[in-house]
Amino acid sequence: MEPKGTATIKKGKDKRLRGGYPWVPKSEIKEVIGVTDGELAVVLSENGDNLGLATYNSQSRFPLRIISRNQIKISETWFKNKFDQAIQKRHLFQTITNATRICFAEADHVPGLIVDNYNQHLVVQVRSLGMESLKHLWIPALLEATQAKSILERSDMPGRAEEGLDQVVQSLYRTPPDSVEIEEHGHIFHVPIKSGLKTGYYLDQRNSRKRLADLIKPGENLLDCFCYSGGFSIYAAKSGANCTAVDISEIAIQTAELNAKANGLNISFQNENVFDLLEKEPDTQYDWIILDPPAISKTSEDRDSLKWAVWNLVHRALPHLKTNGRLIVCSCSYQLNLDGLINVTKLAAQDRQTELELEDITLQDLDHPAPLFFPESLYLKCIWLRKTT
Ligand code: SAH
Repeated sequence: MEPKGTATIKKGKDKRLRGGYPWVPKSEIKEVIGVTDGELAVVLSENGDNLGLATYNSQSRFPLRIISRNQIKISETWFKNKFDQAIQKRHLFQTITNATRICFAEADHVPGLIVDNYNQHLVVQVRSLGMESLKHLWIPALLEATQAKSILERSDMPGRAEEGLDQVVQSLYRTPPDSVEIEEHGHIFHVPIKSGLKTGYYLDQRNSRKRLADLIKPGENLLDCFCYSGGFSIYAAKSGANCTAVDISEIAIQTAELNAKANGLNISFQNENVFDLLEKEPDTQYDWIILDPPAISKTSEDRDSLKWAVWNLVHRALPHLKTNGRLIVCSCSYQLNLDGLINVTKLAAQDRQTELELEDITLQDLDHPAPLFFPESLYLKCIWLRKTT
């Protein structure tokens, strides 16, 4: 697809873009000539320097998303090369799992497109009008790069509204199954690709699940809060731990039970609100507690409610943890960064007059790359703490 016109950036506002940042907010655009929503624009600085090619959508908070720094034709071949590079980057996962994120949007230089591969059944999320308009190019490229058996579109994220797009769940290639069985570090998981959260499974916590499996000892007990399809508990139970896993969603618990059965593991599941559960007087104290709450906040406006939620969770969880027990607190929102997460955890611990030591930090697994030029791509952080008093 060829660019239809130009978009000029305001004077002095091209610095971030030149440094590799891929988005331009509305306030930084001086004028747009000859481009309508969904088309490609040549991006120019005020003095006429060519800064690259971008998809354009006047309705978005970020109307310009850079797709290429060079003036090349965005074609099926262009997409095929991007997918090949992204897949190649993940080759080390081949011996570990048959489920990986093979394209992480801007972080893989394909703005607005996420592709998860579950044993050759692909699930995609289209996050921008630009990528919506380029479907005729990237769908065949994706098929060629992956030899996929099916492609399901799970574009049912609320963020689509900001782009002027409706939420859709539809097949893009053949008939995707309702659920796909995957294997990860020798564990089996059923991934409900049509009805599950996100694209059906939390691939991003893979390395943290593995770390837990390596650290936890047979006979130790674990409380897995916000367990979804049971990832952490299944790894821990396989290592010999006694696991209690909690989630508010009945469907999550059903999937987690199915997964425990598939791995021949005995896990105690509770369909309950974690906040209520932790507020009760502890009748058991745990060696390990995991707090992996949902994002809650996607924007800076509700950052405070996320902080409040994490403070509360840590505050409520501490009495349930043995001395010398380990607490893992995760934030999957860019809005609560590592410093913020450590700080809010510290405040909750201080209020309980409890000492916590930071033992480790894990991030989203490597199939969710976090390039420094795009800070928003680093969204998942987990802090591993020991309760010393
Ligand atoms: N730890 C999971 C991912 C967690 S996703 C994994 O590794 O796969 C967040 C989960 O929190 C979802 O399953 C959602 O149903 C659940 N959830 C949201 N609010 C909750 C609450 N108040 N109490 C319990 N579970 C909740």
